[in-house]
Amino acid sequence: MKVIVIVAVALALLVSLGAMPFSANPAVNAEETESMPAIDWTVRHSFEFYQDLANNLAAKHPFLVNTYPIGRSWRELPITCIELSKKTIIPTTKPGIAVIANIHGGEREGAESAAYFAWWLANSYYTDKTAKAILDKFTVYVIPVMNPDGYVNSFLANTRYNSRPTDNNGDKIPNNDPYTDTNGDGFIATVYTGSPTSTIGERVRIGMESPDWDKNGKPGDDPKFSTIDLNRTFDYMWNRFDPDTGTGANSWLRAGPDAASEPEVQAVQNFLKAHPVYAVATLHTGEQSVLWPWCWTGQVPPDGPFMAAVGTAMAQAITAGTGRPFYAMTSYEDYPTSAEMIDWTYGRLGIHSYTIEVYEGGLPTPDWPWTWGNPPLPDQWIYLGDWMGFHNIWFRNTGSAQMVNRAPPDQDMMVKGVKDGLVVMIQSEPYGPGPSVPLWMNW
Ligand SMILES: [Zn+2]
Repeated sequence: MKVIVIVAVALALLVSLGAMPFSANPAVNAEETESMPAIDWTVRHSFEFYQDLANNLAAKHPFLVNTYPIGRSWRELPITCIELSKKTIIPTTKPGIAVIANIHGGEREGAESAAYFAWWLANSYYTDKTAKAILDKFTVYVIPVMNPDGYVNSFLANTRYNSRPTDNNGDKIPNNDPYTDTNGDGFIATVYTGSPTSTIGERVRIGMESPDWDKNGKPGDDPKFSTIDLNRTFDYMWNRFDPDTGTGANSWLRAGPDAASEPEVQAVQNFLKAHPVYAVATLHTGEQSVLWPWCWTGQVPPDGPFMAAVGTAMAQAITAGTGRPFYAMTSYEDYPTSAEMIDWTYGRLGIHSYTIEVYEGGLPTPDWPWTWGNPPLPDQWIYLGDWMGFHNIWFRNTGSAQMVNRAPPDQDMMVKGVKDGLVVMIQSEPYGPGPSVPLWMNW
């Protein structure tokens, strides 16, 4: 540790003497203090928006931000990392932190929270002492969208999966009846038949909105989705299923075909092997909670008490910032799974690991108070009559379908509250021996 301090002092001296080229031009540093155009954090943002944001942050803040892809999805979209650190303090001497969101494509509020965190760190460095302290001391890697195909797909339908080519309807041709917005209203309807005077209960579901590209009489029965849950596909306890205890039962059917079989998982594993970090947060939606390892067993891991204390403090900070309730427990207590990212990061590399579930839509009930408090949108039923060669067609736009291009209320409050939780996580590090890569993993 002492050697590092001396190096940093020597470097600071060089900088102050103007010996380092990147400090010689004060105009460059002045430019860094300019903030970027304001961003509206209350709206749903596209995949392209996040790409532009990542690139703009690097362009605006060359001494704080690097942006680069760490891999590509099945459909060749980049998995973009925003690396943040005050570069005039040598980054390799700093503990790393990772924030990885949107492993599940439809969990858009997680992506938004991660993007906000990167934006906040870079734009607040010169005005906020917490942001400055973080980027002076740590290197923070933010990956807003780990599952780009799933994110893009989520503007058609709320789905967790990636886009490994998959034959969803058994005709031996993958993905040959994709969902299609035939009436241009921005949603994919669920398609029913029934007379114009039928009750909802009398109508029969025949498929999803699509011209029935494969002409098998079932519209939209082979969308561009796989059935693979990336968060059941890491190379740790992969496909573990214990019929006696039911452990892994939630994961067994949806794990990828092999451990780390998917390019998105490989990208994250390889990146974290090459850039071991002290703490990682993976951002999800569907609950309001902070969870920590293990996912696959109720046993307490060596750093379990530490992660419990930090995770509980994170949940409290997010509640304070959002005004919404968040609970805290081990991921196994929440529900058992296997081959999740946080079990891999902790189990293989010794990284303190947290799942933050940033949003659960709906009204609270006495049994389940941990929701955002927004009432679900009601279904819309629209009678179309003849459509795409089918007769007596009804479109049903579910509340979930209507949300594909909208954000929940107070999303701006959400992302700021999640930032507060992430700050708590970062301030708890470094703790303990830190991450390490087992030698066998490099063979
Ligand atoms: Zn999730």
